[in-house]
Amino acid sequence: MKKLLAISLACATLLGASLSAQATDYPLKDKVITIVVPFAAGGPTDRVARDLAEAMRKPLGGNSVIIDSAAGAGGSIGANKVAKAAPDGYTLLVHHIGMSTMPGLVRNIPFKVESDFEYLGMINDVPMTLIGKPTLPAANYKELSAWLTANKGKINLGNAGVGSASHLCGLLFQNAVQIDMTTVPYKGTAPAMTDLIGGQIDLMCDQTTNTSTQIDAKKVKAFAVTTGKRLTTPALKDLPTMQESGLKGFEVTIWHGLYAPKGTPADVLAKINAALKVALKDPEFIKKQEGLGAVVVTDKRMEPAEHKKFVAAEIAKWTPIIKAAGVYAD
Ligand code: ASP
Repeated sequence: MKKLLAISLACATLLGASLSAQATDYPLKDKVITIVVPFAAGGPTDRVARDLAEAMRKPLGGNSVIIDSAAGAGGSIGANKVAKAAPDGYTLLVHHIGMSTMPGLVRNIPFKVESDFEYLGMINDVPMTLIGKPTLPAANYKELSAWLTANKGKINLGNAGVGSASHLCGLLFQNAVQIDMTTVPYKGTAPAMTDLIGGQIDLMCDQTTNTSTQIDAKKVKAFAVTTGKRLTTPALKDLPTMQESGLKGFEVTIWHGLYAPKGTPADVLAKINAALKVALKDPEFIKKQEGLGAVVVTDKRMEPAEHKKFVAAEIAKWTPIIKAAGVYAD
């Protein structure tokens, strides 16, 4: 009996030693790190995740950092996948403002935003733009406004599903102009953009990281930016704000953050956060993001505790706005 106990104690010690060795050795040589993106490939969240993966590769020991597109249900499929993944630092999530608007917008989400994830730090803030199909007969917001009134009941508005940034922005827009539109959900705004350019849908409110290139190439019509102030990005600098266009108080800026499954060891989290901070100061990463109108985080929100505080504040900010606008979705 005594011998058995001694053997099991020795095993437990060995197991403990191997677990802590695993954590300290993170990332193990050649082990792939996967960043789950909860929206379609080629869209704005995919873009930031790919740029980030590239910038984090070196500080993560040169390991491969790959993207896993787990798109659908407004971002909740991918987020749920990471919430349920092994908490070992090899599966991470890049997600956006949906982490704070989902609880207000959707009654039943399959994960808990505040307790199923480790917060690793924020990545960027991203303005949005109101854009239209190229054949839309309006050259500015005033003409768009007249067109909306004349076409009530026939307007299609694309988005990336319930809980996405384009969904939130589109709902706030419909509420502001007091015109109901038929919303057309996609797995991300990349496929929605293809349909907008093709004229299958009329309008969309989407992140500048997906729209500025298309606006610059005149493939879509651009009417306004959703920030409080005009932007300086060359392709967007002539666009008025929604507020200047007469939509009082209309202001949305979205953001992205990095997450790991709850229970990921503290020293692994510290290493990922350190790699994130290196990426956020990487001139190449900053150049790519800023070229598309995004602002890379330089403030205290790159700290996990501040990231968590910010998301909690965003939940407190958006939930009443969403409820007051009567835009609660099932
Ligand atoms: N982030 C989404 C995407 O990457 C778009 C959205 O949330 O509206 O497609």
